[in-house]
Amino acid sequence: MTDTATAHAARETRGFQAEVKQLLHLMIHSLYSNREIFLRELISNASDACDKLRFEALSDAKLFEDDTALAIRVDYDKEARTLTVVDNGVGMSREEVIANLGTIAKSGTREFFSALTGDQQKDAHLIGQFGVGFYSSFIVADKVTVLTRRAGRPAAEGVRWESDGSGEFTVETVERAARGTEITLHLREGQDDLLEGTRIRAIIRRYSDHIVQPIRMPKEEWKDGRMEKGTEPETVNQASALWARAKADIKDEEYKEFYKHVGHDFEDPLAWAHARVEGRQEYTQLLYIPSRAPFDLWDRNARHGVKLYVRRVFIMDDAEQLLPVYLRFVRGVVDSADLPLNVSREILQESKDIEAIRAGCTKKVLALLEGLAENEKAKYADFWKAFGRVLKEGVGEDFANKEKIAGLLRFASTHADTAEETVSLADYASRMKEGQEAIYYVTAETFNAARNSPHLEVFRKKGIEVLLLSDRVDEWVVSHLTEFGGKPLESVARGGLDLGKLEDEAEKKAIEQEAGELKGLTDRIQASLGERVKEVRVTHRLTESPACLVADEHDVSANLARLLKAAGQQAPASKPILEINPRHPVVLRLKDEEAKFDDWASVLFDQAMLAEGGTLDDPAAFVRRINGLMMDLGGGGSRIVLPG
Ligand code: ADP
Repeated sequence: MTDTATAHAARETRGFQAEVKQLLHLMIHSLYSNREIFLRELISNASDACDKLRFEALSDAKLFEDDTALAIRVDYDKEARTLTVVDNGVGMSREEVIANLGTIAKSGTREFFSALTGDQQKDAHLIGQFGVGFYSSFIVADKVTVLTRRAGRPAAEGVRWESDGSGEFTVETVERAARGTEITLHLREGQDDLLEGTRIRAIIRRYSDHIVQPIRMPKEEWKDGRMEKGTEPETVNQASALWARAKADIKDEEYKEFYKHVGHDFEDPLAWAHARVEGRQEYTQLLYIPSRAPFDLWDRNARHGVKLYVRRVFIMDDAEQLLPVYLRFVRGVVDSADLPLNVSREILQESKDIEAIRAGCTKKVLALLEGLAENEKAKYADFWKAFGRVLKEGVGEDFANKEKIAGLLRFASTHADTAEETVSLADYASRMKEGQEAIYYVTAETFNAARNSPHLEVFRKKGIEVLLLSDRVDEWVVSHLTEFGGKPLESVARGGLDLGKLEDEAEKKAIEQEAGELKGLTDRIQASLGERVKEVRVTHRLTESPACLVADEHDVSANLARLLKAAGQQAPASKPILEINPRHPVVLRLKDEEAKFDDWASVLFDQAMLAEGGTLDDPAAFVRRINGLMMDLGGGGSRIVLPG
């Protein structure tokens, strides 16, 4: 016991986690041109620490230690060349210091960082995604000293941390009367501007004006004809909750800086919505759409990013109940006037009041997106690129807003030339042909596979637009979105093709007649393929290809079956239907084939599988058959000379 206690108090030197070393090095170089942001990061952490203390003190008032006036202090010392940021927030224990200031603690961050290429690591934007945080101190400092004490712990449990940022840090347990954290930066050569009171004030006003706690600095005074640091403190920020101020009084720049604080982001947001809602629940919402997707967007359990306040008191981060999962990219603040201060996550889960707030926030975000889609198309395109795939989840998750979400979806289409040009369902509907009753789509694993799918041939011929769906989630989307604006969504690769009024009767008759004539052939192919197919039939879907595969009306599509398989899930066994083009020369030739009929039938099936992006059970057999048939085509005894 005594041994460990002594070891504990002793000064120990530890190495940074490898990724921290790398991150520190890169940060200093890639963020140097923005070096003054370190102050925003330190003040932001100090503010969070005050929020955390206020929240923890709701259930344990002793933590305040008779000092409830939470504040942040910034000071500088020209002689010592130091800049200091002090808060009387929650502070850190020794274990917390080691975990927070020695590793990259956030789950997934390390993996993400390791996966970046050298060039990507130099990209300030990507580095910024980590929430540059505390480590940004080393952009301007060659030594950083942290003194801290966790609220509620005895003075003997203070902690001193120090590092020059090159690879190691020291920690020791020290006596510290003051609660909270004091961070001292020993500035590098050439950072003298950061030792000027006016310059520091300007940085604080620019980046941290919105911070709720007062940020205090020593007043400047005239001494011997010069401005010098005085002894009286003064508050240099507005120190009021930004979201509680009237919209008209808030500048865009202030909204943007506030976003960087709540969103832990380095970049400006794409858009935001700020409103006070009155009604059954009274609350203020300030919700932001980021410009870029965070690296952990795909983790549905990742931080949700909306902070909950009750009458300006911070209650919790990542209040996942405030927005549905498919809007997890939204950042911001909700401040309720009605919820009790002691509200917990468990209470939120069941609260009817929260349901009302959540519905209101969802509506607000969707309206913000609708506004962008309508009025700022380029911005909406950026949004769609970053978050479209997440928004799609909403189609199946949010029944009440399904139609709205469907209106916000964008898809590649045969109407455009590239995967990047997308159309909305409303665009599609406005271009529907006279007599067209459905919105048609094809699903495939890639854009090219979708665009070149044989299933599109007849649609191309008739000039009917088809949506090209190649996102993994698209299969799921269309299973939930069966209609839009009263028009059904139909797969071009499923069931018998019925183009309804788009086909003329004479054409239909002709096909039926051809089907009758080829009955003998389709039966023979079916017998030859046996268990591989559910049925073989004649189609009028194809104009150029000899054959294609379709799924029966209620079967799982081949694309979905492939996706499930790739994800290691059992796909329900369903056999495809082979459809053949009665006018294709290969098909016509087959009528008279005897000796190699089985090979022809197999090749027909396999190439239909390949054409829609499928894989063959036995590729070698396919190659052998193709080669055999190619040799025959040589005909009349002439030989094909194979290389080698
Ligand atoms: P981030 O703030 O994005 O989590 P940082 O590297 O800035 O990342 O900080 C890491 C952690 O260190 C914070 O999450 C917080 O737990 C702790 N921390 C940093 N500064 C303070 C402070 N002034 N008071 C208390 N804890 C702090």
